[in-house]
Amino acid sequence: MILYNSASRKREEFVPHNPELVSMYTCGPTVYHFAHIGNLRSYIMEDVLEKYLRYIGYSVKRVMNITDVGHLTSDADEGEDKMLKGAKREHKSVMEIAKYYTDAFFSDCNKLNIKRPDVVEPATNCIEDYIRIITKLLDTGYAYLAGGNVYFDTSKLDRYYVFNDFNEDDLAVGVREGVEEDVNKRNKNDFVLWFTKSKFEDQALKWDSPWGTGYPGWHIECSGISMKHLGEYIDIHCGGIDNAFPHHTNEIAQSEAYLGHKWVKYWMHVLHLNTTDGKMSKSKGEFLTVSLLEEKGYDPVAYRFFCLQSHYRKSLVFTWENLDNAQLAYNKLIAKIAALKPDDGEVDRTVYETLKQKFMAGLDNDLNTSLGITALYDVLKAKTNDATKLFCIGDFDQVLSLSLLEKAAAKREELKKQAVTAGEFTIIAEDGTPDAEIEAKIYARRDAKKAKNFALADQIRDELKAAGIEVTDIPNGAKWKHI
Ligand code: AMP
Ligand code: ZN
Repeated sequence: MILYNSASRKREEFVPHNPELVSMYTCGPTVYHFAHIGNLRSYIMEDVLEKYLRYIGYSVKRVMNITDVGHLTSDADEGEDKMLKGAKREHKSVMEIAKYYTDAFFSDCNKLNIKRPDVVEPATNCIEDYIRIITKLLDTGYAYLAGGNVYFDTSKLDRYYVFNDFNEDDLAVGVREGVEEDVNKRNKNDFVLWFTKSKFEDQALKWDSPWGTGYPGWHIECSGISMKHLGEYIDIHCGGIDNAFPHHTNEIAQSEAYLGHKWVKYWMHVLHLNTTDGKMSKSKGEFLTVSLLEEKGYDPVAYRFFCLQSHYRKSLVFTWENLDNAQLAYNKLIAKIAALKPDDGEVDRTVYETLKQKFMAGLDNDLNTSLGITALYDVLKAKTNDATKLFCIGDFDQVLSLSLLEKAAAKREELKKQAVTAGEFTIIAEDGTPDAEIEAKIYARRDAKKAKNFALADQIRDELKAAGIEVTDIPNGAKWKHI
């Protein structure tokens, strides 16, 4: 499998450190608010990566943190604690906020068929791990105490910027815009490992440490949690592109200084989901959630389908029109699969192997999910029996997780029931979306035929055809679709 490695900025053959068990780490959500569908784009793509690794035969151990402490509103150690901000907003305690939004996050993941990672660890569970790492960094001169906080000294590194597609100044601006400099820092990129001088009187979560009562910086949590569960080497570390700097850059700085060797083999960064007026962000206050999609009548899995139609290394623009198109295409796909007959013959293994090669060629190519979806359509077009097609679709869906067989089976049942209950006249929308106006015309055509007015019946069919609708008679009814 070829993966693009953001650290080398090259496409590389994936070779895990330990071929027996791939270790994968995902930066998890900051649980002070609902996840927006942009965040979930990242988790969907990471989910596909994990499932594809398993599909091609690897065992995988995947770890994800839950940020419930220490993440300030600016990624560069400035501003307010995000959790505290959430607690104030909702007049709840920080732990109540963390529990509520952690549950909400996994409920959203469930709706999007995102598997829960093997290990999910809240940052507040691992304080002793951070203290151990920070102690060693101080002992070895990589960290210093100033103004009550412990800072990482970036001047001690030969190379600090790892993902610098941009020049240093570009990286610093934007993160720091409008924010006063911390006078305790020796170098502008130094970052806090441990805070004891919280600016917030009501900082709820604090722990004793050798440097005083306080709380960990945001970046140290991912180093501590990953080492606790995955040891000293990680094969793939994932996150959204905004995490590359400063979060992942700082994770590398402190982890490699602590371990004394290279830490992560492949860095995978998912590009953002944007709206037409820019980046989607939780801190902007108003944002799109899975619940909102549901309220508007969309199937959350259609959003997953929308994400999989594009490549994770390209930013994706969200518009309602784009989502409508994805929902329509998804409905059509389900309707096509529902039309396959499950008991139509034996599975042809040779055909399956050929179709699978095509599917794998897409995903092996830096997780090109849109080619994976094309491979699904190739299955539907293939010259083989329905049993083979359904087998291939179920097989590919272990990776894509679009609920294809379940939804198609439900659709088949629904159609069967309609046909039985009607006993009379059934209209099937083959594209999956009923339309009252078209149905009215099809009923009028039925009435015309009943009255033996075939000229009128043909005229109605022609009118529908001119409007791009094809009507086909079926026993006791008619089916229609967009041409
Ligand atoms: P957060 O909860 O803010 O820590 O973010 C959770 C994950 O979502 C991180 O991996 C971010 O990099 C990622 N992320 C944030 N905004 C977006 C976006 N608009 N599109 C895709 N991923 C995002
Ligand atoms: Zn992280």
